[in-house]
Amino acid sequence: MAHTCGVCYSKTTSEKFKRTCFNKHEFVCDRFHKTLLRAGKQDHCSACVMEREMEEKRRVEMKNTLDVIEGLEAAADQGGCCGNRKAVELRNHRAKYNTLTVNLFEIRANTERELQERKEGFLLWKAS
Ligand SMILES: [Zn+2]
Ligand SMILES: [Zn+2]
Repeated sequence: MAHTCGVCYSKTTSEKFKRTCFNKHEFVCDRFHKTLLRAGKQDHCSACVMEREMEEKRRVEMKNTLDVIEGLEAAADQGGCCGNRKAVELRNHRAKYNTLTVNLFEIRANTERELQERKEGFLLWKAS
């Protein structure tokens, strides 16, 4: 944490900030991101918004990939045409889906670890 309070301009590193600003003038978001939020704007953490957008983007990409796989499988079940090319396509999309799944688990684990680290940092700061 750095900078100054947006209301009374106390330095965020000062003792005064902790006493008179924190949770009155400036707030920390639920996910303990570093950017402090002004009173009334507690729900407007841009880092939280970005995290949600990235998560949504990944969800959509997985859904789209799954739709393609299901489409190809349905075509294959109907004994569709063009056998080999479709089989390769299906294999590629399944591989992509697997990669996306693995990435998602990793990203979620990292996100959770980072959240815990931020939380610990915050609690230390608050207790100091
Ligand atoms: Zn203040
Ligand atoms: Zn946040």
